[in-house]
Amino acid sequence: MPELPEVETITNALKKSLVSRKIINLEIFSPKMREPLTPLADADIVGRSIIDVRRRGRYTIIELDNLGAIIMHYGMSGVVRIEGSEIPKRKHEHLFFHLDDGKILKFECTRRFSLVKYCRLEQSGATPTELAFLGAEPLNDDFNGEYLYAKSRKTSGNVKNFIMNNEVVVGVGNIYVAESLFSAGVSPLRQAKSLSLSECDKIVESIKVILKKAIAAGGSTISDYRHVDGSEGKFARELQMYGRAGEKCVKCGAVIASCRIGGRSTFYCPKCQK
Ligand SMILES: [Zn+2]
Repeated sequence: MPELPEVETITNALKKSLVSRKIINLEIFSPKMREPLTPLADADIVGRSIIDVRRRGRYTIIELDNLGAIIMHYGMSGVVRIEGSEIPKRKHEHLFFHLDDGKILKFECTRRFSLVKYCRLEQSGATPTELAFLGAEPLNDDFNGEYLYAKSRKTSGNVKNFIMNNEVVVGVGNIYVAESLFSAGVSPLRQAKSLSLSECDKIVESIKVILKKAIAAGGSTISDYRHVDGSEGKFARELQMYGRAGEKCVKCGAVIASCRIGGRSTFYCPKCQK
């Protein structure tokens, strides 16, 4: 599942190719996704120019010149590509946006949990109300130790689920929560309510450092994630905790433990993470 660094990488690549392009046609091959794609056919999309492409949480927002926007969420296996029309349609490509330069923006999703939806914006640059529920952007200044500490007072769950909650902070999923909590020395099994302010400071700092490194490396390719050009993200080889159960901790040499939290694999060092 793409997390923030992957969606940032995808979104930046889309921005380079899409801004000032006009959408001249839309083809829906198979409408079934998280929400049906059919309303896109009736939306005010064809004939519109793209004026901006930006990210909010794990969503890409493609803003059109009519205060409309196409929002995309990549679910478990969503992939976007921009290609020429000479490349044949792949089996799980459900949606094509034809552009005025002859290229096609193609949306592929094998597991159909992705979302592509048309929204209205109150003003240019705004986030659609459909995404108003999203919490802090982890790289913004308003995501800080005090913010996380205040939020943690009102929660009853463990630290891992708390950090992965999109209403607290967006885009930190199973991979980057493992790396960030390891770096901060905090166990994912702890009650979020038991965090101190200085631990919240450390967690926030770790999240920012790791996300920035991952963005610089073009994200982590674990399974389906690919860049818009089909290449793989390079951060996976730098992961110190995620997917390393049974290996030795790089800090202390203890064996990395794993368990399941909320059905997701969870990795931690029982010695370094308290
Ligand atoms: Zn350790």
